[in-house]
Amino acid sequence: MGPASGRMPAGGFYHDAIERQQPYDEDALDPDEWVEGMYAVYTDEELRTLQARAEALYANTSRAIIGNFGTAGFGDIAHVPGLAIARPHGIRSVADWYMATALHPEYIRGRRKDVTHHSFGNIDATPLPEIWASAAFAAFRQRVRDFNFSPCTTCGGCERFPFNFEDCTGNGFPTCGGCLWAQGFVQCA
Ligand code: SF4
Repeated sequence: MGPASGRMPAGGFYHDAIERQQPYDEDALDPDEWVEGMYAVYTDEELRTLQARAEALYANTSRAIIGNFGTAGFGDIAHVPGLAIARPHGIRSVADWYMATALHPEYIRGRRKDVTHHSFGNIDATPLPEIWASAAFAAFRQRVRDFNFSPCTTCGGCERFPFNFEDCTGNGFPTCGGCLWAQGFVQCA
């Protein structure tokens, strides 16, 4: 048994996570070890159980049904501390995790991709509404809405893959086809 992973505040109804962050080596983070015991693909038997439960609730109650499939929802920040794991490894502090998503490279099918940031202005120098309304920023938002980027997240890869500088559809920097968030593989809860 590991150290406690949650606490119930006095008068509360939900547990708060206790972060059990251990020292870790930035250069030796192991994604497979991180997800072990946290995520799994549901078995057919588990899916049949969920289906039967949902159908029974639908048929026998007048309440709304909300599904929350915790162990199958990759990316929920509430899972980062690893509450159900006796001794979690890797990055388990919420603050460190958010910084890691911004500072670390991403890996898609084991291939490293470095996403270089792009700025449309500095609010120390230009008011935010002005930056927002600028032609360059408006054009970028339109590109994202159109999303005519190459599908780098599902492609086998090419020499352009390691960066977000250009893609094979003809888009220049910044390209978004290899972004796990833009492609919906990772979602913010
Ligand atoms: S730029 Fe095109 S070929 Fe290269 S990884 Fe992306 S989708 Fe694949």
